Amino acid sequence: MNSELRFNALRGEWVLFSPKRQGAKRPHDIFEKKRPVSPKSKCPFENLEKSGNLPPYFQFPESGSWKTAVMPNKFPGLDTSPKEHILHSEKFHMTIAGYGYHDLLITKDHETRFSELTEGEIFDVFQALRKRYLQVSGDPKIDYISMFQNWGPSVGASLYHPHMQIIALPVVPSHISHELVYSLRCYEKHKSCLYCDIIKSERKGKKRIVFENKHVVAFVPYAAQEPYEVLLFPKEHEVFFETASDAVLKDMAIAFKKVLKSIQKKLSDPDYNMYIHTAPATDGGEYPYHHWYIRILPKSNIDAGFELGTGVQINTVFPEDAAKLLRLQG
Ligand SMILES: [Zn+2]
Ligand SMILES: [Zn+2]
Repeated sequence: MNSELRFNALRGEWVLFSPKRQGAKRPHDIFEKKRPVSPKSKCPFENLEKSGNLPPYFQFPESGSWKTAVMPNKFPGLDTSPKEHILHSEKFHMTIAGYGYHDLLITKDHETRFSELTEGEIFDVFQALRKRYLQVSGDPKIDYISMFQNWGPSVGASLYHPHMQIIALPVVPSHISHELVYSLRCYEKHKSCLYCDIIKSERKGKKRIVFENKHVVAFVPYAAQEPYEVLLFPKEHEVFFETASDAVLKDMAIAFKKVLKSIQKKLSDPDYNMYIHTAPATDGGEYPYHHWYIRILPKSNIDAGFELGTGVQINTVFPEDAAKLLRLQG
């Protein structure tokens, strides 16, 4: 198959699809398979008091034995101590204080990874994220809240115990603002949500669909930056993750588990990053041109000189082939 350059309309970026670079490797050979289970005895989340973690903000389920807890990170990237906002500003140098929140979400069982949680337990994880998001977004100094999971040492997880992180920032980061610029441009031009248009087109074309249920659709994007990346969208137009209904989050939990299981099985259990992409938490911002989603990125290659120098990713697997391999029955 010949190489192609495809345009990612959400990010305004080109991706180079060049299947020949994969050589004779089969899908599961392009992923690393090193993820040793570290012993429970060394895990700081087995005894929170003893390991010096601050008490959780809250737990789910709210009564009885907990399965998911949200608590402050013991080693936060930023905190709420700064009183000033702008510390320094001149022609091209600007410094603002590292004000924000850095929280951890952990699930109870050391050995039960996210794909092995029940759908109800994943729903609890989403509910806990939504609850913490709403608490933190009430702080007027917070402009964006990032929620993500790193699964495996090759993608940045320093601890084995299944967990997610929630980082609230006093700025809107560039990946988010770039997407807002592109989706706003399309909204003004076509008078519709770019994400809704993409969802409609993917559901009609079917060839990149991985899974669908009543409220959620999962597909490999047309210009996927990484082999086998999957996006999961609420089908109805929804700007913010934090206002998603229980019905949508329940279907998202089902879809998320199915897609993770498929990636685990069909690709020989790669490490992965996942994050929730939602609109900024800026006061009063409505963002009618935005649509929240979850992105799962199985880890394969690292960015080298070409990617770093140009922003053009090289992907060795066409999205249609990736979706065909990962596809699940509803
Ligand atoms: Zn543990
Ligand atoms: Zn939409």
